[in-house]
Amino acid sequence: MGKKKIVKKGKKPHKNQPTSKKYSKYQIEGDKIKRTLKFCPRCGPGVFLMSSKGRLYCGKCHYTEFSSEGKKA
Ligand SMILES: [Zn+2]
Repeated sequence: MGKKKIVKKGKKPHKNQPTSKKYSKYQIEGDKIKRTLKFCPRCGPGVFLMSSKGRLYCGKCHYTEFSSEGKKA
């Protein structure tokens, strides 16, 4: 006559999420704010394109832009 112990799984343990690193995309030069990355032309300002292997990619709308930097024809 074994009674099974019921473990309630209602609440999930709180996990600390890494903070957004959006601020690192900005550089302050004097009294001007300089953006180190381009904004997504589709999503508008606020959404950065991440760069990888000469490509700029938007993680929101999957917009991809090929940057001409690094390759000179
Ligand atoms: Zn986008």
